[in-house]
Amino acid sequence: MSTSQAFPRRIEAIAVFCGSNTGLGERYTDAARLLGTTIGQRGMTLVYGGTNKGLMGLLADAVIAAGGKAHGVITQRLADRGHRHPNLHVCEVVGHMRDRKARMADLAAAFIAMPGGIGTLEEFTEIWTLNQLGELDKPAGLFDVGGYYQPFLSFIDHMIAQRFLPAEHRHGIVVQSDATLLIEGLLGFQRVTVPKWLPVAD
Ligand code: AMP
Repeated sequence: MSTSQAFPRRIEAIAVFCGSNTGLGERYTDAARLLGTTIGQRGMTLVYGGTNKGLMGLLADAVIAAGGKAHGVITQRLADRGHRHPNLHVCEVVGHMRDRKARMADLAAAFIAMPGGIGTLEEFTEIWTLNQLGELDKPAGLFDVGGYYQPFLSFIDHMIAQRFLPAEHRHGIVVQSDATLLIEGLLGFQRVTVPKWLPVAD
């Protein structure tokens, strides 16, 4: 973990977690292309699941089309199923999903979750948890396309109300519906230093 973070942060590689499906309608596919273009135009490297499926494939295509680099980390099982994107600059094949998450966490300096399913949510909440515990100091943000993550954020508010999460930790992630502002938020992010453990209530 870095103890003397300079600001704005230096983010050369950014990991994006997102659906291996495309979701309903065009708003999610449009957003994946927009985020990919924004990452590529900034000269950042995309670190992601290495597949051609769903939003993940569209995102990687857009990064590459905009001149950025795409670095995939895919599991052997998914590669064997033919899910591997054919045009990546780098594609690593690892044994299992846990190896893959660890590798992505090493490679990237920041993390974004676009709309997605349980895989996306699991990957994002792991990164948030590691930051909360101080094992990482790498900012994470939700790309809240069309309010997709509002029900999740309501559940986070419920955790706070029920005293399972300090209110300050609501700011432990960046939430944005605009791709450029999301990346700006990650570049300027300052970690929450309030301990996660709450005093016992009366
Ligand atoms: P989900 O949100 O459930 O569609 O799962 C998407 C997340 O799980 C992605 O961020 C990937 O890390 C991983 N994942 C799921 N399906 C695939 C796939 N076919 N190829 C690579 N990664 C996948």
